[in-house]
Amino acid sequence: MGCEIYANNMVPAGSYICLNCKKETVLHLKDYLPPCNACGGDVFALNAMIDLSEEEIKKKFTEITELMIMATYFTEEMKMDGFVPVLALNLKMLLANDAESLLPRLFPNFTFDKATPNYKNNIVMPDELFALPFEQIRIDEFLNQTVVFRGNREPITVIKMIDTVVEKQGIHAIKESMHEDEYLSASSAKFYFPVIAKHIIRKIGINYEEKIKEILFKIQIKNFNPSGGESPVI
Ligand SMILES: [Zn+2]
Repeated sequence: MGCEIYANNMVPAGSYICLNCKKETVLHLKDYLPPCNACGGDVFALNAMIDLSEEEIKKKFTEITELMIMATYFTEEMKMDGFVPVLALNLKMLLANDAESLLPRLFPNFTFDKATPNYKNNIVMPDELFALPFEQIRIDEFLNQTVVFRGNREPITVIKMIDTVVEKQGIHAIKESMHEDEYLSASSAKFYFPVIAKHIIRKIGINYEEKIKEILFKIQIKNFNPSGGESPVI
């Protein structure tokens, strides 16, 4: 059987059936799966996934948007490309994590502004990505939108950019071994992801400038103070 699950592994919330005695073990949160409490068996089959509660989804969403705001700031203002994979992962979880994408779960009517049709040099520049606020497109339409047109070769789409960076875990590790379209996706990502992140943030009603100030302030007052003196005065 290809779907056996072993005790003592971290597993998602769900119902697990002991393959030895068929007793059910239910986990309400992601946790280590204990051995069966009836027979001590340690091989299980997944019976049913338990949906995250509304409360858990909201909490996760808040965490991800805060992380995305920080990663946007560090990528854009501090030129720290190491945060691009963080942005890719945040965008993936919000938009393109199949049935579990957080943004449509919490904002079922979410739409993106449409990109300009008047792209130059076969590229939709980042600042043209949401050029038409009076025309709206669905999340899946946005993800499949072409960013770089490449004649009769496969275009670079938004989702391709996100997936390439998520899969390759960064834009530095891979330069030698990447295919041309992967390289193009990964190297463009740092220009597009912050723009996409800010668009989402604005559309869900968060003021980016205020939020980043608030986050930076929080980081600053929690800062480790090696001199052992007073907390920094801001
Ligand atoms: Zn058992």
